[in-house]
Amino acid sequence: MRECGLPGDEVLAALGAKKEEDLTYSTILSSMCTLPHPVAVRAHVLFMETNLGDPGLFPGTAAIERQLIATLGELYHHPGAAGYASSGGTESNIQALRIAKSSRPVDRPNVVIPASSHFSFEKACGMLGIEIRTAPLDEELRVDVDRARELIDDRTIGIVGVVGTTEYGMVDPIRELAGVATEYDLFLHVDAAFGGLVVPFLPEPIPFDFALPGVSSIAVDPHKMGMSTIPAGCLLVRDQAVLDLLNVDTPYLTVKQEYTLGGTRPGASVAGALAVLEHLGREGFRAVVAGCMENTRRLIEGLEALGIGRAATPDVNVATFRTREAPPGWRVSFTRKGDMRCVLMPHVTADTVEQFLVDAERYYA
Ligand SMILES: *Cc1c(COP(=O)(O)O)cnc(C)c1O
Repeated sequence: MRECGLPGDEVLAALGAKKEEDLTYSTILSSMCTLPHPVAVRAHVLFMETNLGDPGLFPGTAAIERQLIATLGELYHHPGAAGYASSGGTESNIQALRIAKSSRPVDRPNVVIPASSHFSFEKACGMLGIEIRTAPLDEELRVDVDRARELIDDRTIGIVGVVGTTEYGMVDPIRELAGVATEYDLFLHVDAAFGGLVVPFLPEPIPFDFALPGVSSIAVDPHKMGMSTIPAGCLLVRDQAVLDLLNVDTPYLTVKQEYTLGGTRPGASVAGALAVLEHLGREGFRAVVAGCMENTRRLIEGLEALGIGRAATPDVNVATFRTREAPPGWRVSFTRKGDMRCVLMPHVTADTVEQFLVDAERYYA
């Protein structure tokens, strides 16, 4: 650390120069994050100094968090849902498994998780001492419910289903998983970090939420398809008593107990998340999602016309292809199986897709 500080302008110029090294979103097809909506940016700036970790000091910001949860609860057919804003899908998944574990104390617990699940479950289960039982997928890359059921035993504390798998954009058959969860009286966590703000806005929404009695909790990330600023995730459960299973005493704060994983928590991105939901409404989200799905369809059709076959027919805006190479200049990613993966986020416009296809035609020819 320097002894004498620099003028603010000089510091910012140096930071700005570093930022120049970052990629801009214009060529990024590999990310589940996107440019934040301008209304989220304005809200973020307005709430920069707020700390949801000490809500008694920021009752207005705390009310915004409650409104965010209530809005999502209503979207997920359970207006009385409880929950809180986390740092993202990883934290929400960890917390969901903490709840599952404390609601069923057994020796050497296990949890049944689809092979397509996000790597955050590996972190969560490692931390919590839970054995992962990996449920295989069917031909279409959704979890095979019968094979998942076979993995359940008397040490199973929960099941996970994914709405919008990270690699292939599939939605697991949550209705069937919910049936299994009800039958075995198990906690069912739905990881809708990505798809939670896509599926409700599709012309034919696939059932995944609290309308299904077996669903215990839902993770959704406003910092992905919610176009909020980072970090903004949410964990929703059916009622407050479920969250309170995680309470610890917090003697010197304005609240005497907390169930969150983080202590100090940003209000800024939470205000950003609510701002986008309020500003766009269902109508606005349907339009955004329709655009992303159309771009997904177009990319698949365009590459298939060049002889590059799809790896899956996705339920959400993730397109994957049987190729290990991408045209230069574009940021795509590759799945564990080596398929090229493109996420058609709101920053990826129809023009961007056409440009990608022009480059692809030249490259794959
Ligand atoms: C992105 C994602 C996560 C992890 O979320 P972070 O916000 O990166 O912590 C977990 N599950 C799914 C399905 C995701 O798409």
